[in-house]
Amino acid sequence: MMDIIDCHSHDVNAASAIIAVDPRQFDPQPGKYYSVGYHPWHDVAALTDDDFALLDRCAAHPQVLAVGETGMDALRGADLDVQARVFVRHLQIAATVGKPVIAHNVRTTQQILAARRSAGLGHVALVIHGMRGNGHVARTLLDAGCYLSYGSRFNAAAVQATPLERLLIETDDGLVGIHDVATAVASALHLTTDEILGIAAGNIRALMGLREG
Ligand SMILES: [Zn+2]
Repeated sequence: MMDIIDCHSHDVNAASAIIAVDPRQFDPQPGKYYSVGYHPWHDVAALTDDDFALLDRCAAHPQVLAVGETGMDALRGADLDVQARVFVRHLQIAATVGKPVIAHNVRTTQQILAARRSAGLGHVALVIHGMRGNGHVARTLLDAGCYLSYGSRFNAAAVQATPLERLLIETDDGLVGIHDVATAVASALHLTTDEILGIAAGNIRALMGLREG
């Protein structure tokens, strides 16, 4: 398998990326890798048991490396208690298939961690994508065992607080290419772009249970 560097992209043509798709649009292409989930900005209050059964089936697909994008957003989407319930269902499915969860988190750090803890799913590996919080938020998430994925906008103190083995990078909506993201993260850490690309690829390999080569 080639290296996957970009932990989270919404571009279905992205190379070297984990492409986030809604299970209802899951159409795996050769050589591509995916995460599947119901984004919290969409109408998650309307999801049915059939929708979750579909998510369950898609999550088990060998080209699906993670469950998501799921998560919570205090500024957009359904009521937070509904979002929390939907997030927990993603965690449960991830636990069943033994894959990590990729989560959106906008001002819901405490709610996300509380929902995961009270569901008894603290062991499910959790990647917080598009991490823009400060160093304090980063440490809270790191203490809970989370991985942090940084994109085009990030807080330098948060990157500096993140152990290299928990650090991921992403393009998300694709405004900035993965190489430029790596360069920006590298400069916050006084490392080289290639070092960050290598660290990100190695962490994805380890986290997603991929074999080298
Ligand atoms: Zn996204």
